[in-house]
Amino acid sequence: MHLTAKVCIVGGGPAGFYTAQHLVKVSDVSVDIYERLPVPFGLVRFGVAPDHPEVKNVINTFTQTAQHARCSFHGNVRVGKDVTVEELQEAYHAVVLSYGAEGNRTMGVPGEDLAGVYSAKDFVGWYNGLPRNSELRPDLSCETAVILGQGNVALDVARILLSPVDILKKTDITQHALDALAESSVRRVLIVGRRGPLQVACTIKELREMVNLPGTRPEMEASEFEGIAETLKSLARPRKRLTELLLKAAIETPGEEELERRNRAERAWGFRFLRKPLEVLPSTDLIRAAGIRLAVNRLEGDGEGVRAVATGEVEDVECGLVISSIGYKSLLIDPAVPFDARKAIIPNTMGRVQQTAGLYCSGWVKRGPTGVIATTMNDSFDTARTLLQDIGKGTLDVSTVKPGSQGVSALLEKRGVKPVSFSDWEKIDSEETRRGEIKGKPREKMLDVGEMLQVARA
Ligand code: FAD
Repeated sequence: MHLTAKVCIVGGGPAGFYTAQHLVKVSDVSVDIYERLPVPFGLVRFGVAPDHPEVKNVINTFTQTAQHARCSFHGNVRVGKDVTVEELQEAYHAVVLSYGAEGNRTMGVPGEDLAGVYSAKDFVGWYNGLPRNSELRPDLSCETAVILGQGNVALDVARILLSPVDILKKTDITQHALDALAESSVRRVLIVGRRGPLQVACTIKELREMVNLPGTRPEMEASEFEGIAETLKSLARPRKRLTELLLKAAIETPGEEELERRNRAERAWGFRFLRKPLEVLPSTDLIRAAGIRLAVNRLEGDGEGVRAVATGEVEDVECGLVISSIGYKSLLIDPAVPFDARKAIIPNTMGRVQQTAGLYCSGWVKRGPTGVIATTMNDSFDTARTLLQDIGKGTLDVSTVKPGSQGVSALLEKRGVKPVSFSDWEKIDSEETRRGEIKGKPREKMLDVGEMLQVARA
């Protein structure tokens, strides 16, 4: 194998770091990671809920990779704008696209643009300190919030809306979100899905957190659970456990202690099944959301093939906050890259971008925005293996000398772009930790890219 194969990775999230980790561990290639923001780790920093600190421990592994002698981090470089993918291909033997899914699916219903309607992506970005969402200022002055979608992100949002502020203030949630949540009037969160209780897309950990959330009680419609208990025996184990927990929260008579806890609760949450959004209903001044009109569905078919079909019935629910959590979506960042607009992924075979030698992909942009960090890890290791196989087979040419980061640095300098190194990020990290310590939280994130750059360069 050529001794100085140079690979660059676009995106400093889990996919980028896991791809880099495998490459530097099992071969002697050198790897440069280019990241749009001055700070690394993608959705581990900006997606994972603040009250899930244990999930963020992967940052320690990513840090070890970034500090590896043959790995460098170049933050504050937006590929597709500051440097093109073609220019990266000129400078490196291979380019791995790992830039995630920064768009979101829209509901496509009237009223979606009213004040009080947000995507979960923006709402999560707001409480997690994503610079582009720092000015979101969601209006939390209403009593009922409706979340559309029943996956883990929907449950993260519901939990953050209903959690006692005393719990949240010990996390790395941003101060502006904490202040807004402390003033919030939201007392009831309905989590709406097109299909039934057997199709909820969340995992048991997230559901258990809702069930045990201090100060809240479940508020479900018993009629939506008719016939569900009878199906338990036929369910595969994970789905069975999830459904048992759901039934326990929804229809079982609670024991004395739990009953007392529920009676004391000032806030409520519940799933609403077999409902599809038709329209966000406006307030009388037509400015903000005042409710949501839902189509009532019924299910057809069974097992994996079960489908929701409209019954023709509609239901209006009064609410002042609507958060759509129906999925993230990858975007095209450079016209030179093949892109499947329908599936919103880069078309690939085992991580090799179709019809483009030397171009690879990993993570959410490779397989779509689903799966946990461990799924992303496996998929990124697969892409790294594919790339190394191609070097081994000679189908990826590494025989010519490539300039690597030196070539890219020269281009960036000409364009007035100043990259942030990993040690620069460590300065931001220390400052955020210091600010957090004063408040008794793990960190207080900086919200402004300008401020991040100032601290990085101090
Ligand atoms: P990302 O994490 O999005 O990383 C992509 C990176 O590319 C980002 O840093 C981005 O800034 C960068 N980028 C984008 N465009 C460019 C560009 N043009 N140039 C350079 N860089 C660019 N998983 C769990 O295991 N546990 C959890 O609790 C959990 N919670 C989650 C909560 C939410 C709200 C979400 C959305 C996901 C959660 N996940 C969780 C899933 C996990 O975050 C993903 O599996 C993982 O982050 C996907 O990794 P990725 O690298 O493909 O994408």
